[in-house]
Amino acid sequence: MTDSAIHESSAETHSFQAEIKQLLDIVIHSLYTHKEIFVRELISNAADALEKFRHETLVNSDLSGKDDALEIRVDLDEEAKTFVITDNGIGMTRDELSENLGTIARSGTKAFLQKLQEGGQNDLSLIGQFGVGFYSSFMVAKKVTVETRSYHSDSQGWRWESDGEGAYSITSAEGIARGTRITIELKDDDAEYAKDYRVRDIITRFSNFVNFPILLGDEKVNTVQAIWARSKNEVKDEEYTEFYKFIAAAPDEPHTRLHFSADAPLAINALIFAPKENVERYGFGRTKPGVDLYCRKVLIMKQPEELLPEWMRFAKGVIDSEDLPLNISRETLQDNRLVQKLSNVVTGRFIKHLAEEAEKEPEKFKEFHESHGQYIKEGVIQDFRHRDDLAKLLRFETSKTEKGEAVPLNKYVERMKEGQTDIYFINGPSRAAIEAGPYVEAFRARDIEVIYAFEQIDDFVLTNLAQFDEKKIVSADSGDLTLPGDEPKGEGEELSADAAGELCGWLKTALGERVQEVKVSKRLVGSPAVATTEGGMTSTMQRVLSAMNRDGSDVSAALLKLEINPRNPLIHKLNDLRGADEDFAKTVAEQLLDNALIAAGLLTDPRNMVERMNQLLAKAAGA
Ligand code: ADP
Ligand code: MG
Repeated sequence: MTDSAIHESSAETHSFQAEIKQLLDIVIHSLYTHKEIFVRELISNAADALEKFRHETLVNSDLSGKDDALEIRVDLDEEAKTFVITDNGIGMTRDELSENLGTIARSGTKAFLQKLQEGGQNDLSLIGQFGVGFYSSFMVAKKVTVETRSYHSDSQGWRWESDGEGAYSITSAEGIARGTRITIELKDDDAEYAKDYRVRDIITRFSNFVNFPILLGDEKVNTVQAIWARSKNEVKDEEYTEFYKFIAAAPDEPHTRLHFSADAPLAINALIFAPKENVERYGFGRTKPGVDLYCRKVLIMKQPEELLPEWMRFAKGVIDSEDLPLNISRETLQDNRLVQKLSNVVTGRFIKHLAEEAEKEPEKFKEFHESHGQYIKEGVIQDFRHRDDLAKLLRFETSKTEKGEAVPLNKYVERMKEGQTDIYFINGPSRAAIEAGPYVEAFRARDIEVIYAFEQIDDFVLTNLAQFDEKKIVSADSGDLTLPGDEPKGEGEELSADAAGELCGWLKTALGERVQEVKVSKRLVGSPAVATTEGGMTSTMQRVLSAMNRDGSDVSAALLKLEINPRNPLIHKLNDLRGADEDFAKTVAEQLLDNALIAAGLLTDPRNMVERMNQLLAKAAGA
């Protein structure tokens, strides 16, 4: 129905959509104690409505000049126990009114209900983030009345009313000015929200930085100023912190902030914060980008997805550029060269800022790396343009650091051995697991440092990076490894080259399709054998691939090599055994390979192995 299709003004009653009903039921009966957040939600809706109207006046010449005196008013009546908030923003048509407030459940409704169920229904503070902030007014309201008129010139006024108990009504209304007025008849227990001192305190705490004047009675109570457009020296630390808390809805201080302006090649004022906490780590799902786009202090787009590279999604703040076209849309954002430039400048500056922190305040940067290192790694993989600079921010433990101490790649490069041309890393679940495995033996024997990569993503990061400071980055489990320095001389006598060659040939036949090649190892010191991989595919990648292989089949044998240690007593014995008892020697060979796969984390189906182990045990026990 459009406005003009409604001729009479008799009240129409409608049921709330089912999920909204459910939500309202919780909101009305909630024991949540911080009901004051409804003030923040209504003010933020009013501010959104004003931003939208201001944006219209800029792109729509019919409206030009009408953007003076855009403001939010809050009027309280202690006697009548009412809280009234009025804005002269964009307003709503009848259709918009019923869609936005009642008929159509917003996409976040279900998610929010779920969240409430998980959290014991008591934390309503996140209601705004799920796009259902308006309904928070029912925490304190006996009845809510919304009177509104859209900014379209032929619009008429409408009145929406509800007690939140299942239904709302819409009536046409006379004498309504452009914008929206919301009247809340407070519950007796919530009469405090009609008191001036109480509401004043709430506004200054939650909404101080709203970009329009908020008048309480006739007095302006907020600080209207775009702090990002002010000079750095004039803004106090507390002001930054307050602003951050406001835009990020965060309870604490930011980890760091970058405030800068530039004139060339683009006019930019940017204020970017990194939070302390990384909520993605706590399983809250993917963080939505938190940087708004402004032009001359006018909001152009709230938190657009395409503004900054994806890995920067943890950042909160504002980018303001007077060079931006006002009529830019989400769709055209990505293709806009100016926006791309903006994005590059801000991203580059932010990385530089982090690099400076790492240099000057390493302990502080360590905290950031621990909480937000994941984003830096994502950046190395995805953000080609900034890859090299981001790589300098990576930190890893190595065979030469203490447990828990992580160093940058340039530190590794600085202390590379004479004759060492490559950077080596090995992936494993922990320091202990890596050091117990066969891969680091050769490095230990030659005193070569190895980077320990504990997370699966590290493998992709380092493989993707491929080189650092012109040094190749090589996985310690790759088959074609040539290490500098002398071959380590392990204990024990070495099989003759001929015998070793024959044994390798026999093993290849015995193991058949399970391996691509068996060869004499130049790297092993103590272990009998090790599995290596081919073609730049590290064992971690193979592990990930075979985990995706739902049929449980082992990794592609085409990529697998087995290296044997010609000095190891077990290998000697195996060589003898293949003449004496070939069947049993085959069983031992299979187990040798499985053990190597276990050390590499590549054995996906241990069932065959258990049976074989039992056979071997029986033999060992003399059964
Ligand atoms: P959100 O603000 O996240 O969209 P809300 O539940 O707070 O969710 O508001 C729902 C919708 O109702 C808004 O998106 C907007 O379209 C409309 N609305 C709410 N308050 C106003 C207002 N003061 N002026 C115009 N539209 C409003
Ligand atoms: Mg809202």
